[in-house]
Amino acid sequence: MTTIPARGLPRQAILAELEERKRGDRSWRQGKLAVYFYWLDEELERVQQEAYLAFWTENNLGQRAFPSLKSLEEEVIAMALSLLGGGAASGGTFTSGGSESIFLALMAARNRARSRRRVTRPNIVLPDSAHLTFDRAAEALGIEARRVPVGPALRAGVAAMAARMDADTVALVGSAPNYPFGTFDPIPELAALAAARGVWMHVDACVGGFLAPYVRRLGHDIPPFELSVPGVTSLSADIHKHGMAPKGASLLLVADAADREWHKFESRAWQRGPYAAYTTQGTRPGGAVAAAWAAMSHLGEEGYLRCARLIMEAKTIMTAGISAIPGLEILAPSDLGIFVWRSVDPALDIGKVAAAMDAEGWLVGRQQEPDGIHLHLNPIHRRFAEDYVAAVSRAVGAARAGEGARMGANERTY
Ligand SMILES: *Cc1c(COP(=O)(O)O)cnc(C)c1O
Repeated sequence: MTTIPARGLPRQAILAELEERKRGDRSWRQGKLAVYFYWLDEELERVQQEAYLAFWTENNLGQRAFPSLKSLEEEVIAMALSLLGGGAASGGTFTSGGSESIFLALMAARNRARSRRRVTRPNIVLPDSAHLTFDRAAEALGIEARRVPVGPALRAGVAAMAARMDADTVALVGSAPNYPFGTFDPIPELAALAAARGVWMHVDACVGGFLAPYVRRLGHDIPPFELSVPGVTSLSADIHKHGMAPKGASLLLVADAADREWHKFESRAWQRGPYAAYTTQGTRPGGAVAAAWAAMSHLGEEGYLRCARLIMEAKTIMTAGISAIPGLEILAPSDLGIFVWRSVDPALDIGKVAAAMDAEGWLVGRQQEPDGIHLHLNPIHRRFAEDYVAAVSRAVGAARAGEGARMGANERTY
């Protein structure tokens, strides 16, 4: 059994050990992953690290002690609101990640419906392409999650979702975009439906929030999804994804700041005095806020546009290269830097292609439906786009030659 060492190790030995442990990890710096990380350049990396370290031990629960963190957090929220359609009445909450932002949105929707409409057996209606973290939150909050199949266009079907709503529905969900396909749901239509029934409308822009507005400015067709769309109640956007901040940074934005109160906890039922929080966390890392503020302030609109351009260029190179390989197809549509490719040749087993790529060190994201391979690009992939296409080509050659093992679609590869 591992125990706390009787005698601690010196600093150098600790760092050497940590580096040693990393040796078996996949090399994201070589672009071998298309999931879990975001990287633009050395300069941004240094800004993130130094900003985080500047607040490495400050606790963001203690804003009375650290007005610095309060002002940084308020500016992060204000910058995001201005990017994502917020108005004068809007507000937001800085959270630890997309899962917490979504948890708070569902908790608020449930509490509001419980208070105003006396709903006791709440349900939410969402497309089956929505992130599974909605189901996790629903389970914890005593909410039934009603998943409705997306249509052949890979977008939420508004009529099908309307048909699953009833008097106990507390929220509708749409993604901007979803993770499995990278497609936007029809947010204006879903939000109008939610408004007509007096239901909370949550837009999950965890992955798209800090990318889609810039991809749109580059001239791509990105449908409206922001807080300014009539009927939208809340929107989640992860700063630790395309906001290019280190992990532990997401936002839950609300069109009307008064709706934040539905996910607030407040009590004085102990000896120590009043306690209140809008998040599920108590102690919160000050470094996460400082680094998020630093990333946004360092990049500016120019930097985010650069990220958007690199991602869309990488996507163009990869999708053109992959679709030129006989037997492969890019699943359409896909609106941002997420896409799926698959085999359309019965003699070409995508599981074998996946295993051959894995053997070369690529971390393959296996899509279970349709049976394929999933990619989620970040700016670093522009450098490795041609390498990736060449690797796909070699893997297809190996699979056609019948070499190697196969990687099933239901292996846990998320
Ligand atoms: C990443 C993601 C989430 C969950 O966010 P975490 O930060 O991983 O908790 C939710 N929805 C979408 C669309 C995502 O891409």
